[in-house]
Amino acid sequence: MNLATAIQQLSQEAILKQQRVRTRLAPTPSGFLHQGNLYNFILNWWLARAASGSVLLRIDDLDRQRVRTAYVDFIYRCLDWLELDWDEGPGSPYDLNSQWSQEHRLPIYRALLQRMQNYKLLYACHCSRASRSLKPCACRYQEPLQQQKEANIKLAMPEEMDICDKDSVSGVLLRFQDKPEDPMVWKKNDTPAYHLASVADDLHFQVSHVIRGADLIPSTLIQKQLAHLANLPAFEEVSIGHHPLLHDAQGHKLSKSAGSRSVKPALQEDPGSFLRAFAAWAGLPHADQIQRITDILQIPVDKC
Ligand SMILES: [Zn+2]
Repeated sequence: MNLATAIQQLSQEAILKQQRVRTRLAPTPSGFLHQGNLYNFILNWWLARAASGSVLLRIDDLDRQRVRTAYVDFIYRCLDWLELDWDEGPGSPYDLNSQWSQEHRLPIYRALLQRMQNYKLLYACHCSRASRSLKPCACRYQEPLQQQKEANIKLAMPEEMDICDKDSVSGVLLRFQDKPEDPMVWKKNDTPAYHLASVADDLHFQVSHVIRGADLIPSTLIQKQLAHLANLPAFEEVSIGHHPLLHDAQGHKLSKSAGSRSVKPALQEDPGSFLRAFAAWAGLPHADQIQRITDILQIPVDKC
């Protein structure tokens, strides 16, 4: 199944079930967005708009050390350029800091941490990065979690991984091949780690559908497992699908950290050719007719 067909089927299913669709754009401002990030945003926007749903902009800025104003500004420049609109979330960098930063939601993350602690899912890990490279962490078997300060907090994954999740894009049943390393859920600098914050935010904002890159399949499984263990059925029901990653001419995955193919040069031009390239990638027919982002919604379902 190509991406265009998958998006259109997901939106049709939601309409038939009278399901409220809410997707989210969740950039991390630790580098300049690249083409793959924007393709991901367009897919999420497309699904929401095709199902008359809503789009949340959630800028994942928990890692304050790596956040730069220029990266945040660039997110807005890209969204403006694409004319990609959203319904909830910060309207400007100022709005992000004053109202929407993840720092404002720390009580929500702490509540989920406490819930997991109540279910006795957590343990403190005192291993340093260096010691972990020498021997596997055995902290899980040493001491129960007493206090949360000055240690990383990890989620104890069950010996038998009992979670599997159907990929809403490919239809493939996702499951752990092997038991993964226990994921960190809270850092010793007293901030939430990615998996906990992401689950808490998706629940808080009532996100119904997530389309993300295939590199996040392990994260999807960890987050579904976390929700299962913490008895959070609302997250278990979130529809999550994965799209293939974009590669550069050398076959390398596009990534911010590698500084690969930024979209900066494209921003000097009309977005039409970028959108047509996206539509061709997604397998949307008549991609040559697309001038603006809203044109993506005009291609009839039966043509896919
Ligand atoms: Zn440890």
